[in-house]
Amino acid sequence: MSKKELLRSFSPGLDFKSSLLFLVVGVVIVGITLWNWHDDIRPRLINEAQANARVLAASHASAIEAQFQNLGASADFSLIHNSINEMLLISDPSTEENYYLGISLEVDYDVFPADYDTININVGNTGCQHCIVSENPIFIRRSGELAAILKVYANPIFYQRLAEDIVDDIALMLTGFILVLVLAWLSSNRLLHNLRERERKLVYEISERKIVEARLQQIAAYDQLTNLPNRYLLQSDFTRKLEETSRNDKMLATLFFDLDHFKEINDMYGHEAGDALLEEVAARIADVTRNYDLLARFGGDEFVMIMGNVENRADVIYVAEKIIASFKPLFDLPDAQVQVTTSIGISIFPEDGSDPSELLKNADLAMYRAKSEGRNCYQFFNAEMNLELQFSQWVETNLREALDQQRLELHYQPQLNLDSRRVSSCEALIRWPQESGQKVSPADFIRIAERSGLINDISLWVVNEACRQICEWREQGYRTVRVDINLSSKDFADKGVLYKFLQILRKYNLRPQDIGIEITENILLESTEQVIKALTVLHNAGVHVSIDDFGTGFSSLNYIKQLPLSGIKIDQSFVHEAPSNKDDLIIMQAITLVGHGFGLDVVAEGVETEWHESVCKGIGCNTIQGLHVSDALPADEFASSYLNQLQLIDTGGADQESQSDS
Ligand code: C2E
Ligand code: MG
Ligand code: MG
Repeated sequence: MSKKELLRSFSPGLDFKSSLLFLVVGVVIVGITLWNWHDDIRPRLINEAQANARVLAASHASAIEAQFQNLGASADFSLIHNSINEMLLISDPSTEENYYLGISLEVDYDVFPADYDTININVGNTGCQHCIVSENPIFIRRSGELAAILKVYANPIFYQRLAEDIVDDIALMLTGFILVLVLAWLSSNRLLHNLRERERKLVYEISERKIVEARLQQIAAYDQLTNLPNRYLLQSDFTRKLEETSRNDKMLATLFFDLDHFKEINDMYGHEAGDALLEEVAARIADVTRNYDLLARFGGDEFVMIMGNVENRADVIYVAEKIIASFKPLFDLPDAQVQVTTSIGISIFPEDGSDPSELLKNADLAMYRAKSEGRNCYQFFNAEMNLELQFSQWVETNLREALDQQRLELHYQPQLNLDSRRVSSCEALIRWPQESGQKVSPADFIRIAERSGLINDISLWVVNEACRQICEWREQGYRTVRVDINLSSKDFADKGVLYKFLQILRKYNLRPQDIGIEITENILLESTEQVIKALTVLHNAGVHVSIDDFGTGFSSLNYIKQLPLSGIKIDQSFVHEAPSNKDDLIIMQAITLVGHGFGLDVVAEGVETEWHESVCKGIGCNTIQGLHVSDALPADEFASSYLNQLQLIDTGGADQESQSDS
């Protein structure tokens, strides 16, 4: 309902008009009654009194005359009257003077000026049954006139009639009043009822609207799952806190943290469990938050805490440690109890930034450092991280150009079968040569490309380049081995990349067996169902699928069972430590045993020494890759060093060999 409609509905309308009508009718009735009183009763009262006085004067004329004679005055009395006063004309024959005896009626007139001489004359009993007459008429000598004032009061019958009339009129008036009151009461009651009803509706609508507005505000500013402020509210409160802190000349700490391996938990136990975990996390952190601090859900599993008016870093460390400690007790999920940790990045105002976005970005960077430091810890932002940021920005702007201008290269690292001492396959590793000669690590720029979204184009370029290279080697007369390509989890988020991958194979007329793909365990964190489908398509087509860096991520033996795999690559960190660290050796042994048990190829990465090789051999891992065999080499070097070793019989034979290797 619009505001106008609402106001219109609130207008009293008809009820108000009818009430007004009733009121007017009532007032008219009362008016008529009062008019009647004035026009009818009052003249009647006067007439009646005058008539009484006339009767009285006539009947008592002789008595009055006697009284006059008693005074020594002889007079003829005759009754004259005008419309106002009754007059007795008294003539004195001796003096031939005429006197007028004015009979004044007490009822209406007051003719007693104070300076008049008065003579009391006893009139005696008047005999008038219905009149009350003063027993002492008063004679007044006034400028040669003798005036007698006979006090005549209205008689009881007159009063009775008067009273009856008044009662009738009052009854009529009261009826009018009561009618007005009843009608006014009825209509005002109805009016009030309607007003109350409309008011109730209005209040309801307003409160409904308020509830909706409050709810919208709540949705806009608060995270619905955890009830914490969301990133939008965070932004505004953050600015306020910054202003306050800088006024007080204190520090402000931004703590940016997320849950380590949250995606795995979501995938393993479902999104409901993930939500329950986030709720519990929010509740636990809220417990360690001072009222003054601001805790917000930034998005996904990311939280931000803003600590204003901080005196020193020790205060921040204390809170960061409390947050980490709050994660120690197991988390109760609907179907399981899990151990979860968090990594916290911290930036400090004013050293690490002057506005919310800079402080958040730097705290985020510090969090990534905390993750790379082994997770479950906190890291303060430092200038070195800033260099990282600058590097990221540099990569983002230059990598696209390098890709478009064909300045990227693929190097190939052999994988050696220890039983046959022959190169069974190789891994294609991307290189980005710089004019300065400086090396840019693929691990670094690939990570940035994954973040910026450039990775899909890079992966397609790598697949294309590897296939083109295989064809070139073959054209050069080399017998080729399977080339394993590293794919990113982001490549599986886009179905198109997969089809383009198969298209490229067809374009170069290669068999799927000529190519292998390496995926990390993290790939499964993206979208398990979709990833498994895509991998199955490739695996069924004959593409060699292996899990790279196995043992470092969220290693689950369940993945080995679940995924359409052809091989496992044991992460080089185990290989490096295995000769001296019994635990790593046991892990390698177990991975090899399980891999072989499932009929998978098991490759040990990072084999740098003879010792590493013998350890691998000892545990039954017979395919190795690493500096001990060879670093990754440019295509021509790889061909001349390794493909050359392979007997060139004919293409068909080479193909068969390559196939049997895979
Ligand atoms: P990765 O797939 O595990 O590749 C193995 C890495 O170990 C390579 O590093 C390789 O040069 C290095 N390596 C091989 N043998 C040894 C050894 O004995 N000792 C030591 N310390 N290192 C050894 P590289 O080429 O710097 O690549 C690093 C990572 O970058 C790769 O790890 C892979 O995850 C990623 N990457 C490289 N090329 C590509 C690519 O074309 N596409 C994608 N998506 N990722 C790539
Ligand atoms: Mg690899
Ligand atoms: Mg690897």
